[in-house]
Amino acid sequence: MDACVGYAALDSSGQLSPFSFVRRATGQDDVAFKVTHCGICHTDLHQIRNEWKRSVYPMVPGHEIVGIVIEVGSKVSTFRMGDRVGVGCRVRSCGKCKACQKKAEQFCAKGVFTYNAVDIDETITYGGYSSHMVANVKFVVRMPDGLPSDAAAPLLVAGITAYSPMRHFGMVENGKHLGVVGLGGVGHMAVKFGKAFGLKVTVISSSPGKEKEAKELLGADEFLVSSDKGAMQRASNTLDYILDTVSAPHELGPYLDLLDLDGKMVFVGVPDKPFAFNATSLIYGRKLVAGSLVGSIQETQEMLDFCAEKGITPTFEKITPDYLNQAMDRLSKSDVKYRFVIDFSNGL
Ligand code: NAP
Repeated sequence: MDACVGYAALDSSGQLSPFSFVRRATGQDDVAFKVTHCGICHTDLHQIRNEWKRSVYPMVPGHEIVGIVIEVGSKVSTFRMGDRVGVGCRVRSCGKCKACQKKAEQFCAKGVFTYNAVDIDETITYGGYSSHMVANVKFVVRMPDGLPSDAAAPLLVAGITAYSPMRHFGMVENGKHLGVVGLGGVGHMAVKFGKAFGLKVTVISSSPGKEKEAKELLGADEFLVSSDKGAMQRASNTLDYILDTVSAPHELGPYLDLLDLDGKMVFVGVPDKPFAFNATSLIYGRKLVAGSLVGSIQETQEMLDFCAEKGITPTFEKITPDYLNQAMDRLSKSDVKYRFVIDFSNGL
C-alpha cells in the first residue's frame, strides 16, 4: 500500500481540500504512475456537489489523468518505467458481458468508474487530483509522441466524448453540417473534430460573447445564440447532426427543429433534470435522438493517435493545484477556455 496525497471533496459544498490516503500496492496486472496533469471535467463538478445524488465522501475527483510510469506489475509487458500514459473515466470492467465482448466496455454494468465508485475489493476509487495512480493495465492508454501531456489530459474524457459518437453514429460525412450545443470542454473538442472530419460546424451557445473565439480560434463556420428566437427559426432544418454537450437543463424543441430530414441528435451532456419534447418534433423529418458515454479504451487510443497525427489539441488553461477551488467556481459559470488542466508536475 502506498501513501498518496491529493485533493478531496469532503461534503457537497463544492469545496476541495488537501487529503491524504493510501492506494493499493501495484498488482501483477497494474501500472502505477506519477500524475503530472489532470483535466477538470464538468462531471467532477456535478459529482463533488452531489448533483447526481450518488456521491460518496471523501471524494478525490479527476478522470482525465496523464502521468509517467513509476512501476509495472509482473504480468505487464506493454508499458515500461518512464512511459507517458493516461487513464480516463473507467478503471475496470467484467471482460465477459456483451458490452465487453463488443469492445464497448464503457457500458459494462459491472464496470468501475475511476472515482466515486466501489472497486472489486470493496474500496472506493479515488481519481486523478492526486500524486499517483494505480490502474489495471487494460485501462491504461499510451500517450503518442508529439502529444504534450498537458494537452493530452482533456482528450481522455472531453475528447473521446466528442469523438466516439461522431464516429459511431457516422457523423463524419464530408460536407455535412454539424451543430454543437454548448461550447465548453466537450463542445470545443466537437468543433475541432468536426472541422478535422471536413464538416461545416455551427456552434449553438447560450453565451453571445463566445462567438468571436468560436469562429476565429476554434474554426466554427457559424454561431447561433440559443436565446435568439429569430436566428434559431431561420436556421430550421439546416443541420444534419447535433451533439448536445450542455450540463444544465434546457428546452429541446428549438434544437430538434434545427435538424434537417433524417438528422441525428446525440446527447452527451448530463443535466440533473429530465428532458421533455414533442414527438412531432421527431416524426416530421424522421429524426433520431441518441446518447453516448465517453468511448472504449480502443477508441480512446485511436483518438489520441488521430490527434497526434493531425495536430489536434484542446484549448486549455493550465492551473496549479492551489487554484482548484477558484477553477471549480469559474467552471460553474461557464468561464473557462475551454478546459482547466491541473499541472501536478511540480508536486502537490
Ligand atoms: P463545460 O465545460 O462546463 O461545458 C458545458 C457548456 O454547457 C457550457 O460551456 C455552456 O456552453 C453550456 N451551458 C452551461 N450551463 C448552461 C445553461 N444553464 N443553459 C445553456 N447552456 C449551458 O462542461 P463539459 O465538461 O464539457 O461537460 C458537459 C456535460 O457533459 C456535463 O454534463 C458532463 O457531466 C457531461 N459529460 C458527459 C460525458 C459522457 O460520456 N456522456 C463525458 C464527459 C462529460 P455555452 O456557454 O456555449 O452555452
